[in-house]
Amino acid sequence: MYRGAVAEINLHAIASNLQIVKKLVKNRPVIAVVKADAYGHGAIEVSKKLYQQGVSYLAVAFTSEAIKLREAGISAPILVLFDKGEVEQFFDFGLTPVIFSLKSAVSFSRIAKKRGIIMKVHAKVDTGMGRMGLSGMNVINDVVKISKMDNLELVGLMSHFSEADLFDRSYAELQLKRFLDMRRKISEILKRRIFSHLANSAAVLSFQDGYLDAVRPGLMLYGHLPFSRFDSDVPLLARENNQMYSLIPSMRVTSGVLCTKTMPSGSPISYGRTFITKRKSRIGVIPLGYADGYSRSLSNNAEVLVRGRRAPVVGRICMDLTMVDLTDVKGARENDEVVIMGTQGKESITAYELAVKAGTIPYEILTSLGNRSRKIYVG
Ligand SMILES: *Cc1c(COP(=O)(O)O)cnc(C)c1O
Repeated sequence: MYRGAVAEINLHAIASNLQIVKKLVKNRPVIAVVKADAYGHGAIEVSKKLYQQGVSYLAVAFTSEAIKLREAGISAPILVLFDKGEVEQFFDFGLTPVIFSLKSAVSFSRIAKKRGIIMKVHAKVDTGMGRMGLSGMNVINDVVKISKMDNLELVGLMSHFSEADLFDRSYAELQLKRFLDMRRKISEILKRRIFSHLANSAAVLSFQDGYLDAVRPGLMLYGHLPFSRFDSDVPLLARENNQMYSLIPSMRVTSGVLCTKTMPSGSPISYGRTFITKRKSRIGVIPLGYADGYSRSLSNNAEVLVRGRRAPVVGRICMDLTMVDLTDVKGARENDEVVIMGTQGKESITAYELAVKAGTIPYEILTSLGNRSRKIYVG
């Protein structure tokens, strides 16, 4: 028996979500973020689909991810967001670096010169995320220096929002303002415009001013909203956009009922006896646990779908097994399909629902479940 879950990845949904992005940003170039194996959806298949559907760039975190795409025959321009390690690899595999330190710019320049080619680079500035990017008093000078280094061509300037998902826009606006100031000063010195990009999914959905020359969505391509609440706290534009266009979740995660048993009232279930049956109960065992990305914090706290009905997870989730209460699911039996995330009949369990219950965000649910499941592709 295959352990864990099966993730069905709907590539049509991803293509349709991309069309929504394009409509929103009025056909600006899209830099599709496929880091972490395309948020658990499988970077090779997803990247092929997205490139075929007209994204301008793919973005990954590390060169190792980009090399996998190249080895799978993907010829799209690839932006490497966070790496600097083996500079030679950028040249060998035709990758575009995001430069976040002068030191790494120097080594790119040196090797480009040695190889006699011009290396296109994007520079990243920190506008308040406090993670990566050129920062401090000399940012402007540093970017100008990079643009003047031998055999480097500065083709992009970028930054990253830390909270474009919040109703309170003030910090996103401050970051945008800082970015535009830097861009203006750099452009004045270089006497040319610089192609710039800043917007993640949250900004694409809710912050038009941040669109600039290209956008960099990840999560929404996979059919999910980045906002932590879907009520009136969600920025107005995002709410309107979501009513106008609906993103389609592109991952459905299923398992099966390994076995069932009927237990009398008063029976403890799983480690630590955190659940005790209050009635004669039909308990189903599922061959999926926290080792498969089904977080232990969902113990006694999540539901699965069986025969179109919700069935609660009972007792602690184990390393490779989870128990569910099937008492109210008429006719449930061994080998029934169990939906961990996705739709079955009229019921759906969203990444957002699991994220709220596990105390995390949809991003972590998708990467945890997706990266540990066997994947099947549709479309
Ligand atoms: C992950 C990432 C994105 C995409 O963010 P989403 O919230 O998934 O849209 C964009 N830019 C950078 C630099 C990132 O690290």
